[in-house]
Amino acid sequence: MQELAFVNGEIMPIDEAKVPIEDRGYNFGDAVYEYIASYQGKLFCLEEHLDRLERSMAALSFPKMSRDKIREAILELFDQSGIERAGIYLQISRGVAPRDHAYPEDAQPQFMMTVRPVHEKPPEFRHQGATAITVTDQRWGRCDVKTVQLLANAMAKQQALQAGVFDAIFVSEDGVVREATSSNVIIAKDGRLITHPLTEHILPGITRHVLLEICAERSLPVEERFFDLDALYAADEVFLTGTVTEVLPIVSIDGRSIGDGKIGPLARELYQALLEKIGA
Ligand code: PMP
Repeated sequence: MQELAFVNGEIMPIDEAKVPIEDRGYNFGDAVYEYIASYQGKLFCLEEHLDRLERSMAALSFPKMSRDKIREAILELFDQSGIERAGIYLQISRGVAPRDHAYPEDAQPQFMMTVRPVHEKPPEFRHQGATAITVTDQRWGRCDVKTVQLLANAMAKQQALQAGVFDAIFVSEDGVVREATSSNVIIAKDGRLITHPLTEHILPGITRHVLLEICAERSLPVEERFFDLDALYAADEVFLTGTVTEVLPIVSIDGRSIGDGKIGPLARELYQALLEKIGA
């Protein structure tokens, strides 16, 4: 079992991997990324991650890269690591060029990855739920594109930790609940699930998508629509969804209990259903 890095075709120990100082990801946040997890030696939703990566690259007019070559590189790195429960972080920048806002004409995209064991959520979060605060959404207007411009997310996460809670949930200036710093948000009210529709204000989460499929299979009613802060506070259940987050119940927000302050039945059911789908 070995943590490894991949830089433009070469695999090496992580501390030997270097990025040129004029990489546009470093200078401008001009890079896209994915985080893919494995369970028992098998990557979950690899093709869905590749789909989203292609969409992110197209949205930023990156030159097209071969999907087969990207997949091959991911599988090679994963295989060489020998890590069963791995997290593969993959980043592609527009390239390396003298600093200039305009896109360089001839830059080659830079393709980097690391593979490490997944940093699991604390077990008590799974047993008792986690807590959150809300913060004003100060991110840019294309949160549907998975770029490395994550300073607002980092600031919000730090604010949450300083407030003694697990995470922060972004709420727009006019009160619409968007998503958390690295997860989507689903609420349950009177047996119905409600989640933000796929617009430019949230990331189209793969876990969110898998869960909506699970809901359809189980005939659980889902509404993809906007909901506000009052609806968040008044929900019977709130949970976060994401690759590492999986289904994580949030039992208190801004110091107010959600429902009875305990993990609700829908969060439990969907978490189990997700694990079954994963085969974990
Ligand atoms: N929203 C944001 C802002 C995220 O960073 C993530 C994690 N990539 C998600 C949602 C969840 O996406 P996924 O289910 O694909 O991990």
